[in-house]
Amino acid sequence: MSAGARRFFAEYAWLGGHRAAELVLIATDAGVISEVSTGVDCPPDAVRLPGLVLPGLANAHSHAFHRALRGHSHRGGGSFWTWREDMYAVAGALDPERYYALARATYAEMALAGITCVGEFHYLHHDRDGARYGEANVMGEVLIAAAHDAGIRITLLDTCYLAGGFGRPLEGAQRRFGDGDVEGWAARAAGLTGAAHARVGAAIHSVRAVPADQLAAVATWARERGVPLHFHLSEQTAENDACLAAHGRTPTALLEDHGALGPRSCAVHATHLSPEDIGTLGGTRTTVCLCPSTERDLADGIGPARALASAGAPLALGSDSHAIIDGFEETRALELGERLARHSRGHFSAAELLSAATVAGHTCLGWPEAGQIAPGAPADLIAVGLDSVRLAGARPDTLLESVIFAAGAPDVAEVIVGGRTVVADGRHQLLPDVAGALAEAIAALEA
Ligand SMILES: [Zn+2]
Repeated sequence: MSAGARRFFAEYAWLGGHRAAELVLIATDAGVISEVSTGVDCPPDAVRLPGLVLPGLANAHSHAFHRALRGHSHRGGGSFWTWREDMYAVAGALDPERYYALARATYAEMALAGITCVGEFHYLHHDRDGARYGEANVMGEVLIAAAHDAGIRITLLDTCYLAGGFGRPLEGAQRRFGDGDVEGWAARAAGLTGAAHARVGAAIHSVRAVPADQLAAVATWARERGVPLHFHLSEQTAENDACLAAHGRTPTALLEDHGALGPRSCAVHATHLSPEDIGTLGGTRTTVCLCPSTERDLADGIGPARALASAGAPLALGSDSHAIIDGFEETRALELGERLARHSRGHFSAAELLSAATVAGHTCLGWPEAGQIAPGAPADLIAVGLDSVRLAGARPDTLLESVIFAAGAPDVAEVIVGGRTVVADGRHQLLPDVAGALAEAIAALEA
């Protein structure tokens, strides 16, 4: 992934703070930023990047195979639970070869959108009948290979998924997700190793899917390794109701009881929280990853983003089911959702929103050095062109606001990962026909 010494020049770049810096030279060596200077002329050897240069975006919550459902699940209205049945049908059609092809194309779509690091919440571990593959982690390994071949970083969050609901066994397609018990999950997941572009973390699917007496073992596994621990949390009120009925506690309180919260933990969605839950997540500095485009698509609701941030929870963003893959749309939704819910504007600054999409996202995926344009950070850069109809007329003093509130994925012109060019002039350099690769991978699931 890394390249030799390269220098990049940006007319505008976000180096933190509320305004873009001007005339920025970013020197890199072996894929890491070595020096950043501002107010300089472009040297002849530097690669000139167009528009506004940002750190690569982090997509902190992905299920790559859900990409196959895009657009197909709206027929007849449906609900979260009918969508889940469609999702299980796709899960049932995957094998390692098909999963690799679909994930590589999906991650390439992410690269085109300026996403340079993905958190893959991975629970499709086993064969169709629930048996282990000969290579127990082959499904995880194909995801790591897919990210490599799409040119982006990945944190594979190997997910413990043991039950079909409170006190219910896994059924049907869910059997592919299960390791029997938490010891079986831990032993298999321990066989995963990272790579230069890949790190490994842990996940609890949800309090529905891991019995309460086995939650602490997953948390301990992650803590002992110093790796991230992610979990779906309170996406639906039905989960809260079932958890209260089974345990007399909210999902947040149950996870807190079993040691699953803290600065290396990340709660995904956190849509339906009590004031006490918000205080607990903030007080433990648990990151909350909102997935606004999916939360809209599945009619989940609008999570309390501002209240969580004010309580102390860092915020990150994910495209989750990939109803769309557009980091700018996901990011501005933090602010726009608050506006709809509160009938007022100005809850987050553009710089706060950018921080969620970059440094906070990388930190919750176990890449705390990434997501910023600063010496020592990986040379992961994206250039957002300012010459499209969406951004024409943008002004230097409000460039961050223009990009956050009006840019779309097609405005990403260049993507550099580890100092290497992955997208040039809007074209993926490793997978020339990403749309064709997606269409082929999705069609293969119906064959
Ligand atoms: Zn999810």
